[in-house]
Amino acid sequence: MQVTLAQAFRDTPEGEIAERILRSCVHCGFCLATCPTYQLLGNELDSPRGRIYLMKQVFEGATPTAKTQLHLDRCLTCRNCETTCPSGVEYGRLLDIGRRVVEQRVGRGIAESATRAALKTGLGTPLLFNTALKLGQRVRGLMPDALKARIPAAARATGGWPAPRHARRMLVLEGCVQPALKPDINAATARVLDRLGISLIAVAEAGCCGALAHHLDDADAGLASARRNIDAWLPHLDAGAEAIVMTASGCGVMVKDYAWLLRGDDAYAVKAARVSAATKDVSEILLAERGALAGLARHASRLPAKRIAYHPPCTLQHGQKLSGGVEALLGDAGFELVPVAEKHLCCGAAGTYSILQPAIAGQLKTRKLGHLAAGAPELIATANIGCLTHLQSGSALPVRHWVELLDGALDAPGDSGGN
Ligand code: SF4
Ligand code: SF4
Repeated sequence: MQVTLAQAFRDTPEGEIAERILRSCVHCGFCLATCPTYQLLGNELDSPRGRIYLMKQVFEGATPTAKTQLHLDRCLTCRNCETTCPSGVEYGRLLDIGRRVVEQRVGRGIAESATRAALKTGLGTPLLFNTALKLGQRVRGLMPDALKARIPAAARATGGWPAPRHARRMLVLEGCVQPALKPDINAATARVLDRLGISLIAVAEAGCCGALAHHLDDADAGLASARRNIDAWLPHLDAGAEAIVMTASGCGVMVKDYAWLLRGDDAYAVKAARVSAATKDVSEILLAERGALAGLARHASRLPAKRIAYHPPCTLQHGQKLSGGVEALLGDAGFELVPVAEKHLCCGAAGTYSILQPAIAGQLKTRKLGHLAAGAPELIATANIGCLTHLQSGSALPVRHWVELLDGALDAPGDSGGN
């Protein structure tokens, strides 16, 4: 596609990236068929191609309006369009730049700005989030059903976190909301890895991955989180930690992108590249240990559940381009995965999207849960805390992280029963 950058964007780093990406789009429209917002709303401007066109106009000098911003806001950033696009258009990177430029020119009203600031601070600060969650859980029983569904019931880790005892060590990102919502996910990961001779360590100085701020158009706050985590993890990598394990795919896609986001920072570019290269989704780690893991699997008759519907998060399948690994590991452990239609489509969680765009997010959740329940599973598994809580808020079936299921499907060290 022909692009003529407006003067304001010529010879700027963001202008150069935008121009390169815009030129790579040939306007074929293949991406429309897999875009959730286009499927629901049927408006070209709520499709990848339409949004690309809107951003092209802005980078060529058109004045963006609140309507431009609305269509960009409605994008889930699911990146399904990237998976579909035959021309390799890096839509996500373009949207990051386009949204920021539009935000600077259009701004937001007081109420909307306050909501976004509250989400950034409230969700990205574990102490604040924990306090608010505990308060909400205390009065949950008095709430109307619609509100109650948005506040998950209190959860405790059901098993311990093994003390470090192995020469092989890996780090794990605790995350900002996951420890309060589902503390057993990282503990289950630590138990699985411990059985494989790997100790998992959470570095206290690390915190939110920065994705929340980044996707709320606060690039500086997102980068500050990235730098803090890099400073926290690098000494441990220097001391021999093999990898940084991600149990939330939404955080994983962000940390893997630190190298790109900090490429122009002289002090952090090399360090960020090292951290991104060491970052792996837990499924990547366990696939590399697949043989040893299969030797630990219980007999199928002793599994805590049998029939599973698995929802692969967009941040795993489209963002990190990891498909099929979780399914293979669950299959090895003896679970039966029921067929699920439209596996490629977003569930509507998408970070803060379910709060900021509740109508679209609600429709996508209903559609997704219908497909997940169609095979009559005993429970639903997924790989990201955002998808998990979003789906659980509309489902009577339990929704769990797949690594918790795997933990329950493995024999404890010294357990001789079952096989
Ligand atoms: S983003 Fe890709 S699939 Fe969509 S219109 Fe452009 S080239 Fe075609
Ligand atoms: S990221 Fe998802 S919602 Fe946004 S344009 Fe692409 S497919 Fe559509």
